Amino acid sequence: MATRREYQPVSDEVPTESADESALETARRQLARAAAALEIDDAIHERLEHPASVHEVTVPLERDDGTVDVFTGFRAQHDSVRGPYKGGLRYHPEVSRDECVGLAMWMTWKCAVMDLPFGGAKGGIVVDPKSLSTDEKERLTRRFTQELREVIGPTVDIPAPDMGTDPQTMAWLMDAYSMQEGETTPGVVTGKPPAVGGSYGREEAPGRSVAIVTRETCEYYDRPLEDVTVAVQGFGSVGANAARLLEEWGATVVATSDVNGAIYDPDGLDVAGIPSHDEEPEAVTSYAAERDDLVTLSNDDLLELDVDVLVPAAVGNVITADNAGEIQADLVVEGANGPTTTAADAILEERDVTVIPDILANAGGVTVSYFEWLQDINRRKWSPERVQEELETEMQNAWNAVRTAVEDRDVTWRDGAYVVALSRIADAHDSRGLWP
Ligand code: GLU
Repeated sequence: MATRREYQPVSDEVPTESADESALETARRQLARAAAALEIDDAIHERLEHPASVHEVTVPLERDDGTVDVFTGFRAQHDSVRGPYKGGLRYHPEVSRDECVGLAMWMTWKCAVMDLPFGGAKGGIVVDPKSLSTDEKERLTRRFTQELREVIGPTVDIPAPDMGTDPQTMAWLMDAYSMQEGETTPGVVTGKPPAVGGSYGREEAPGRSVAIVTRETCEYYDRPLEDVTVAVQGFGSVGANAARLLEEWGATVVATSDVNGAIYDPDGLDVAGIPSHDEEPEAVTSYAAERDDLVTLSNDDLLELDVDVLVPAAVGNVITADNAGEIQADLVVEGANGPTTTAADAILEERDVTVIPDILANAGGVTVSYFEWLQDINRRKWSPERVQEELETEMQNAWNAVRTAVEDRDVTWRDGAYVVALSRIADAHDSRGLWP
């Protein structure tokens, strides 16, 4: 039996300043808290602080004018003890090795909290997608796929959309991979258009899961949705779908935003009438420009509105030590990945603000990705109704598992979700053991 030296986690203290906290730092601090609460083996904790591997690739692109630009791409594969690596590909100027590793760690916990047979990965290209024509984006995606071909595959690592990528991007990836393999392989990637093996309901799934956990949590705290006001930061696929469903289920959505600013109507917005970012980019502020009955605010002001529920569904690190003391909502439901820094989380806990973490709230995306993968490998299509029903069941099961941990251990919802996820991952590592 091997013996272990005393293990000191990479980082477990709550920082006082948090504006520049990286996704990796946040992910490691959250892991350290859960590892301490569960008293998991130090060796497993140490393993989980690091990715199994990170692939860095160079992606040359021939521009439409014939010149060549060279980009850097990554694929971080964190842990595969419960199944193939799974997670999105991001096209964004701030993509970095560490960001991919942190986001890959979150995918490991997200898949485990949902009890999906996947591990965690994340990747991307350091590029501003707005600087690419459609043809350039296609060529870049095909070349990136070729560079990653040896390390992805339907039973190895299955990418999906994330910031700056969409179903069309996934269709190019699927085609490039399939052409090289010599066989149509839809299971290599999820989030594809339904015409090439994509699942119905995949695009709206993260927003739907945000709406489901908001409804469950409000009911749990005796706040029926009819009595609840909601502010949603971001009107992309997550924010718009969450806002529309919550409105349909009786809540009053009073504010939303795009990258240029926010709009607010205390009597409730007609969210069904505002185009989402995917339907028409940055339409929230142009919608407001045509109306004189709406108050316009900054994105920061939206976060501090006096509402019952706040859904940050845009980018990471928006709730920080600087504004956590000003959040008026009783419930924060994280639609984006990593919107709350560690320091902000501690302040919200102190102030009794309930936070439903990203790894549970937006996990509908990867859950319907799992349904898509099942459909692809079984060559069978599920109806939209079946997808919706199964997603509802999976979300309720996960929400219930987390609620039980919250009640049994008297911890926050984030700690509850980590406890559920990490105990499943640690059990799997224990059972499989270390070899060779
Ligand atoms: N990018 C999404 C996420 O952060 C989806 C990942 C997937 O479907 O594999 O959850």
